[in-house]
Amino acid sequence: MTESNGAQEVDLALVGAGIMSTTLAVLLKELQPHLKLEIIERLPGEAQESSGAWNNAGTGHAANCELNYTPMRADGSIDMAKALEVNVEFDLSRQFWSYLVKKGAIASPEDFIHPVPHMSFVMNAEHQAFLRKRHAAMSAHHCYHGMEYSEDHAEIADWTPLIMEGRDPNQHVAATRIVSGADVNYGALTSQLLKHLEGQEGFSVHFSQSVVDLHRRPAGGWRLDVEGPGAVKRTVLARHVFLGAGGGALSLLQKSGIPEARGYAGFPVSGIWLRCGETEVAERHAAKVYGMAATGSPPMSVPHLDTRVIDGKRWLLFGPYAGFSTKFLKRGSLFDLPRSVRRDNILPLLAVARDNFPLEEYLVGQVLQRSSHRYDTLREFYPGMRVSDWELAVAGQRVQIIHKDKARTGKLEFGTEIVHSADSSMVALLGASPGASTAVWIMLHVLESCFHEALVGHWVPKIREMLPSYGHDLKTDAALCARVRAETAEVLKLDVA
Ligand SMILES: Cc1cc2nc3c(=O)[nH]c(=O)nc-3n(C[C@H](O)[C@H](O)[C@H](O)COP(=O)(O)OP(=O)(O)OC[C@H]3O[C@@H](n4cnc5c(N)ncnc54)[C@H](O)[C@@H]3O)c2cc1C
Repeated sequence: MTESNGAQEVDLALVGAGIMSTTLAVLLKELQPHLKLEIIERLPGEAQESSGAWNNAGTGHAANCELNYTPMRADGSIDMAKALEVNVEFDLSRQFWSYLVKKGAIASPEDFIHPVPHMSFVMNAEHQAFLRKRHAAMSAHHCYHGMEYSEDHAEIADWTPLIMEGRDPNQHVAATRIVSGADVNYGALTSQLLKHLEGQEGFSVHFSQSVVDLHRRPAGGWRLDVEGPGAVKRTVLARHVFLGAGGGALSLLQKSGIPEARGYAGFPVSGIWLRCGETEVAERHAAKVYGMAATGSPPMSVPHLDTRVIDGKRWLLFGPYAGFSTKFLKRGSLFDLPRSVRRDNILPLLAVARDNFPLEEYLVGQVLQRSSHRYDTLREFYPGMRVSDWELAVAGQRVQIIHKDKARTGKLEFGTEIVHSADSSMVALLGASPGASTAVWIMLHVLESCFHEALVGHWVPKIREMLPSYGHDLKTDAALCARVRAETAEVLKLDVA
């Protein structure tokens, strides 16, 4: 690194060492190896917030089983537009990870990804009718080729015995299954990406250092004030800044003072899992089984019973039970929410509080839940569960985005938003869904926003080498879709539907 008046000078400073920053850094180093990149992380290691294995559900979200992505229209038909978008976004991640495995940058796919069928499961006649329609619509599209449907207790028991054992044989149930799904350890993947970066010239990572402030430089670019252990301060000068700080991104975006940050606020949702590491139980379940959301619940708190593979061991994970905490990071401060309130976001915040009463009611109910309620919810999914097999684990914190809508009040969003300065020298990532699964798709948007000239002028051939479907629409190109899925399944050792 070159020094300028004692300060580090880099092409891009990335704040946060989670899956987003490391994905962007690896992509950029592949595209332009001489770029100087620095990651600054407040915690002592990578992936200790949302990207950590136990802080998220590890679903390779391809919108196979998450019912919130396929709402029913007023006329009773199924709207699968959002599901299809997410489905093919995940294909970009599969292609990038395959490229890295083939190149030897990731030693083995089994270090972070495992084949786990994705299932939806519903438990009454009305939901059964919905799932039947949903399956008819989805399985007719090539992206969902191979999706199976059943209302038959014995067949569903064959797919997922724990869910059916001890269930009333007269209960209306239905399930879909797609065997090409995946469980992903995003924490392990982040570590693999970082290991690959650390071997490269012009890359550095600094742990236990927080970015506490950032200022525009008169000549262009940014000055970052960084504080390390013992309140030791240093300065980083950067041509570009990426705020991949998860729940910490909003406050840094506000400190940047860019006009594009105005009106944004955050709505934190915390989570709790139940998890089971009993081998004889975990070995009898091989699926991620997503249910139907309770009324008023945020879409990401749909209960699901998941196979997880973490550090070579199989687990069962159930939840998340949502809750409310004013922290923006799991290891954040209770003052995060009050400190984020500004003159420009108070109205959107109040409007969201006024307009989302069912959600608030739901979250309060979840916070007040006793353990016995949590076990009751699990028992609906897995009737034969033994309380002694399960323990509570705290999930990561999600900060949902609130911003001014057209009526200049406020809107709560459950997706991800890229906010960048007009000159594209600063970009921040807000929100958390669909999340880590679509990191590559999100980072391509970051490249398109902030490095447009280089991308259009030089990088497209290399991007096509890494992501053969780049520039094509897998939703309409069935042959290419089948080809990239077969190729990536072989490299990542996933199943083909
Ligand atoms: C309960 C839950 C379940 C989820 N399930 C899934 C799932 O099944 N599939 C999926 O794809 N996604 C899932 N997600 C979403 C996914 O985890 C996130 O989208 C993803 O991990 C975000 O990565 P990130 O790198 O942006 O953030 P993080 O991993 O949170 O990393 C941000 C980093 O920035 C650091 N930081 C913050 N402020 C500063 C600062 N000022 N200075 C320096 N460093 C700073 C933090 O310490 C942290 O390490 C889930 C999330 C949650 C919470």
